[in-house]
Amino acid sequence: MAGIYLHIPFCKRICSYCDFFREVGTGRLVPLVEAMHREMEARSDYLGSEAVRTRYFGGGTPSLCPPELLEGLLDHAARLFDCTQVEETTLEANPDDLTPEYLGALRRIGIDRLSIGIQSFDDDCLRLMNRRHNAAQAVQAVRNARNAGFENITVDLIFGVPGFGGDSLRRSLDRTLELGVEHISAYHLTIEPGTAFGRRMERGEFAPVDEAVSETEYALVHETLSKAGYEHYEVSNFARPGFRARHNAAYWHGVKYLGIGPAAHSFDGRERHWNVSSVERYIAGDAPEAEILSEHDRFNEYVMTRLRTVEGIDLKEATALFGPERCERMMQEAAGWIHAGILLFDNRRLAISPARMLVSDAVIEELFET
Ligand code: SF4
Repeated sequence: MAGIYLHIPFCKRICSYCDFFREVGTGRLVPLVEAMHREMEARSDYLGSEAVRTRYFGGGTPSLCPPELLEGLLDHAARLFDCTQVEETTLEANPDDLTPEYLGALRRIGIDRLSIGIQSFDDDCLRLMNRRHNAAQAVQAVRNARNAGFENITVDLIFGVPGFGGDSLRRSLDRTLELGVEHISAYHLTIEPGTAFGRRMERGEFAPVDEAVSETEYALVHETLSKAGYEHYEVSNFARPGFRARHNAAYWHGVKYLGIGPAAHSFDGRERHWNVSSVERYIAGDAPEAEILSEHDRFNEYVMTRLRTVEGIDLKEATALFGPERCERMMQEAAGWIHAGILLFDNRRLAISPARMLVSDAVIEELFET
């Protein structure tokens, strides 16, 4: 089984924290989509005989794309790849794009999962992040989506925003729960160079929350959502039973995927490809760059992706894939974390305790083969 990712890199305006590949305005949308059709055609053998299980429109803001263009891409993909067993087709959306008409059209073309970038239900926090919607529009967007028949909705939230922890975060979590969505992704704010927040930080006007605050907020998110019946199944992801994100799970479990569009990545288990991060050069037809992963790289990739999930590393599987020596060394490094209760080990699986997943990067780095 395989996945297809389609990247629509346009946004109406740039959020203060965003360092994704994107640009303002949709003036080049049509030539970009035409180039995406050409790329699909050129790489139609990438997935071999594997059936496509998930399709995902990410961005940028794919909800700026008219339904006809999205439908054209889905139809073309269905002609080139085996899409007869698709289980999930997701579109990332901004709340203020989700009118009843647009949502109705999305349903008709086969989008069955919406990923809505809400981020917060605090209007001051949304303004600070330069989001283009407010809390009322976010609530309305989810209601509109339900009325249009969407039964699988995920929302993104951001925590760790200076000045918006405590009650503000608690209210955002409560309002998210009131909406009864199937899935929630909650990300800690990172302040990246080159973003509006990064520039403010350089000027000394803005600073990340300290580690103790991060941990408190992460614990609040974990406890609130777990108590409400959401399974904390990956560092940043929470799902009601049966509603884990299938497309994203493919990345964590090493499933083959093809990325179409500028800056999109593809992976076939051995080789990684990535497209040029330039709309202009992508439209001009620049070929993807490629890197063949060594066994050492694949082992580290395996450790990193598996330990992000509650399933963790199956020691038997890891030993079969990478040999006993590598796994024994990894288990020696893991001993201290197991002793500290941060890693859990039941003689078969090694996994990070869900409540402590915020420190997963530090743990994973120590288990890496150097
Ligand atoms: S909408 Fe998403 S991709 Fe666009 S600027 Fe904001 S965070 Fe970045």
